[in-house]
Amino acid sequence: MALIRNLASLAALTLAALGTTLPAAAQEKVLNLYSARHYQTDEALYTNFTKATGIRINRVEADDAGILARLKAEGSASPADLILLVDAARLWRGEQDGLFQPVKSAVLEQRIPAQWRGGVGPQGTQWWGISTRARVLVIDKTRFKPSDVDRYEKLAEPAFKGQICVRSGSHPYNLSLFGSVLEADGPAATEAWLKAVAGNLARDPKGGDTDQIRAVAAGECGVALTNTYYYARLLKSNRPEDKAVVERTQVVFPNQADRGTHVNISGAAVARNAKNRDAAIAFLEYLASDDAQRMLADGNNEFPIVATVRTENPALIAMGRFKSEAVPIAKVGANTAVVQQMLDRVGFK
Ligand code: FE
Repeated sequence: MALIRNLASLAALTLAALGTTLPAAAQEKVLNLYSARHYQTDEALYTNFTKATGIRINRVEADDAGILARLKAEGSASPADLILLVDAARLWRGEQDGLFQPVKSAVLEQRIPAQWRGGVGPQGTQWWGISTRARVLVIDKTRFKPSDVDRYEKLAEPAFKGQICVRSGSHPYNLSLFGSVLEADGPAATEAWLKAVAGNLARDPKGGDTDQIRAVAAGECGVALTNTYYYARLLKSNRPEDKAVVERTQVVFPNQADRGTHVNISGAAVARNAKNRDAAIAFLEYLASDDAQRMLADGNNEFPIVATVRTENPALIAMGRFKSEAVPIAKVGANTAVVQQMLDRVGFK
């Protein structure tokens, strides 16, 4: 017992001695980050930010829907400071649900083009793109040539009957693409197009984008929709099976002769009830820095959102320069609710 008492008093003494350092520890800056970015390479971003600022990052990771649901459930008690999502449809949804707060930042306004921001009002901007990705087509070179499908609209043609592989129509990546088509072609043409595309599918939607690319290479379908970074990963891979996929397929950037290829964003927003607001804005501004932009491009094969940043990523260079659509991403996001109703009507799962 005496020993235990001694240990206890020793512990008390130690705590008392530590007392002088406790205020500093209590002041340790933290950032509570909710991230739907599912990319290992982001680790380096967090480490570098902490090294540069001393701000420790606590992370909660889930998919976009999971993060939005969690924020809603937590309400004003939410510890979240900054939210990273991977699609305009979800960012728009978060804004609609009142989960974000506006930010005014000269750095962000200067670095992030207006096209890639949402929820812009007199109080500031509610969400900011941090990187871009194009939604492209991948064709089986033995069945199609790029000119066969040089517009998204061509996917509705009879030539593609039983040829299209795509993940769920309701996946945010597709909702945003279809929202962009809606902006360009109007409601009647878009719904007719969705109905025809649903009728041209090679199989019921399943899996992610990489699964669709692999299905093209395996001969299960002739054309697939994918985000560019998934194809870039295959381009960089040294595995023989991935090299075979690349060998058999080709990326097509649609609508180069008219409005440009659909481009989506990964983006960030400061949480409505952020307790570490300054840290959240500091991280947001860090994401727009040259260093972080290059890490997003080189590490995860995304395109920098800051126009002056050039990437050396060989996979991105190999895919080539392309014309991106000019529609504000906030409009695309806002269209996705209508698009979902269309998908339900035409039976595009
Ligand atoms: Fe993804």
